[in-house]
Amino acid sequence: MALVSSEGIVLKTHALGETSRIAVVYTREHGLVKLVAKGARKTPSRFGFALEPLTRGRYVYYLKTDRDLHLLSQADTIAPTGSRIQELERLAHAEAALELIDRLVWGEEPHAELFDLLAAALEAVTVAPAASLPALTIAFELQVASLLGYRPRLDACAECGGALSQRRLFSPARGGLLCDRCAGEEPGTVALSADALAGLSLLLTRPVGEAGEYFEVRRAGEILGVVEAFLKYHFQRFKGLRSLELLRALPPERRSDETSSAKPPAPRNEGTPCAT
Ligand SMILES: [Zn+2]
Repeated sequence: MALVSSEGIVLKTHALGETSRIAVVYTREHGLVKLVAKGARKTPSRFGFALEPLTRGRYVYYLKTDRDLHLLSQADTIAPTGSRIQELERLAHAEAALELIDRLVWGEEPHAELFDLLAAALEAVTVAPAASLPALTIAFELQVASLLGYRPRLDACAECGGALSQRRLFSPARGGLLCDRCAGEEPGTVALSADALAGLSLLLTRPVGEAGEYFEVRRAGEILGVVEAFLKYHFQRFKGLRSLELLRALPPERRSDETSSAKPPAPRNEGTPCAT
């Protein structure tokens, strides 16, 4: 049993007994870990914002190599991302990023690039113009899949490497565009619009932060449909992003509402002297 320190992002938490909490944290150094935070449900908690979903923090814990749960010793907040997000729509996209990591990644296998991608995506979600949030989420989905070894092939037939069909035929199962011959033998192939293919290609290759900064993607709904079909085919645990389904169920005028109940409590401001 070793006392280790990791930078991490809280994906979700569960209650444990009367006063404790289990935090599922995606860490840079140890992959996905489950940390037992004793006394975390007492108010005020000594962990403050550090155990809120979306928070990026530094976590010190006793790593037991043969166990599923590790005892948390100390947690310090680096970025209280959840407390910076005010609108429901933005919160849904931030939660979609956590949900994707939770679905596609398991076990204590570290992947620093993936951690950095998640951190960059959450940073971008907090500041991006609302209109570019769908593009940002799609870019994140595509780039997570790429880092995990499933990069959609768009430059040549994903099956035989031959010249692409003029009809822009994408196969979720083959993981990319196809030639006419291979597409003829492949059920479930989708013909993409020119705009959707251009958007797909851009979101796959540009840094995820830029997806939010510079552009709104045309036909985001069409691209999202294809990307989610692709993810469902290659990742058994992926069933679509629940966070975005909840968003679609809201009437458009509610989506930019400020959050109320979803917001974590304000941290104690220990540096401010009392007014007298
Ligand atoms: Zn082919």
